[in-house]
Amino acid sequence: MTGHLRPRPGKAIHQFSFVDALVAGLYEGAFPASEVRAAGDLGVGCGDALDGELVLLDGELFVCRGDGEVRAVGDDELLPFAEVARFEPTFTRELRGPLGEAAFEELVDGLVPSANLFYALRVDGEFDRMTVREAVRQQQPYLGLAEAVKQQHESTVERTRGTMIGFKGPDVFQGLSVADFHLHYLDSGRAFGGHVMDFELVEGVLQLEAYATFTLRLPQVESFLEAELDDIDADAAIRQAEDS
Ligand SMILES: [Zn+2]
Repeated sequence: MTGHLRPRPGKAIHQFSFVDALVAGLYEGAFPASEVRAAGDLGVGCGDALDGELVLLDGELFVCRGDGEVRAVGDDELLPFAEVARFEPTFTRELRGPLGEAAFEELVDGLVPSANLFYALRVDGEFDRMTVREAVRQQQPYLGLAEAVKQQHESTVERTRGTMIGFKGPDVFQGLSVADFHLHYLDSGRAFGGHVMDFELVEGVLQLEAYATFTLRLPQVESFLEAELDDIDADAAIRQAEDS
């Protein structure tokens, strides 16, 4: 175990749109992938029309779709939501399994100095089991996230090697961002991935960086500008979407 978890000046989490907008069904792509990639080299998000889960890994942007396809995202594609950071980990720790999702989160909670900062995390490792889900492409008129996630695709693979990336955010940011852990997975063959639901880690390396700055860019597409966002039961919907 080496390093520190003090946020450094000038380092920030950059978010494009916010989770309550997704809860309200605002899945229209609003940000060119090139701008998302310019803001960081590690991150998560979702595809246009909620078509799959984004994984930004070492500056390369992939989308893991509900039909199991994983493909690179073109610079001109428009994205409705992303959360990214320029990842320069200050803390590294080797992990020895078996380590399930709950135990992993408990371990990270025990390492970080405060629950009220943002953290980016990355785990490169071997997993006995990895369960992910991918949202599937929605048709207009878009239903809210609570309805959309009922169609999501879930799959489990055994014996997989790859990278889990994502964030841990403060609870008070629920709705703007995701409270607590939000992790996506991409295997080393770039053939399997999605939003992490559950896993069993065999062994791996955990890297972390803390951030005290959070920036948020709002969409400027018509559907966002005209949306009524004052009556959303966001917390329940996000919990359902993240945990179901
Ligand atoms: Zn996700």
